[in-house]
Amino acid sequence: MTSQRTRDRLVTRLRDEGIENQDVLDAIRNTPRHLFVDEALASRAYEDTALPIGYNQTISQPYIVAAMTELLIAHRPHKVLEVGTGSGYQAAVLSSLVDKIYTVERIEPLLTLARQRFRQLGLRNIRAAHSDGTVGWPDFAPYDAIIVTAASETIPDALLHQLAPNGRLIIPVGKPGKQRLTVITRNDDMFEREDLDPVTFVPLLKGHA
Ligand code: SAH
Repeated sequence: MTSQRTRDRLVTRLRDEGIENQDVLDAIRNTPRHLFVDEALASRAYEDTALPIGYNQTISQPYIVAAMTELLIAHRPHKVLEVGTGSGYQAAVLSSLVDKIYTVERIEPLLTLARQRFRQLGLRNIRAAHSDGTVGWPDFAPYDAIIVTAASETIPDALLHQLAPNGRLIIPVGKPGKQRLTVITRNDDMFEREDLDPVTFVPLLKGHA
């Protein structure tokens, strides 16, 4: 069910779909995605598909995790903020690729589960908090990169302000059905925007739950 061959097949598929960065492919191969979903879904954990994690949320599709991770590490960030911990899978994939990850989640029971997984896997460079990520995490700003794993119709100002010089924000932007993966790069006080592929994410919501 979680054999090496099943994981290798997922990595082969991601490579066929255009993921080129070997470090990203290795990180996906080495991250036990079956531990980030409910046991009842574990047999489907290495399919390239999003899966439910409760509370109307999903663990992102491996292809999207790989594509966003590839964009994120292109500029070799050290310190990264993730908004939307969810299952913790994206943070776990990043754990071997950057020095330090800060991640925030607005739904407390999801955060509790994600923290248990980080502990179980010995991932010590992830710091997680229960909070509303639309305001970022000012205490540890600035960040070399910020990744948002929920979609927003507008780009939260706080996230732009918490980017380090030359920092990058990777965020799905747009109304449901019309979202695009967007990359914002900070050059001093100028922000350069690139709109990439269409994507489908759960919404970025304000406040705690
Ligand atoms: N990165 C996650 C994907 C989870 S789905 C993973 O690898 O599993 C997106 C998550 O964003 C959901 O858990 C949702 O609760 C969370 N979210 C939505 N709005 C948020 C906000 N304002 N602050 C923090 N988390 C938020």
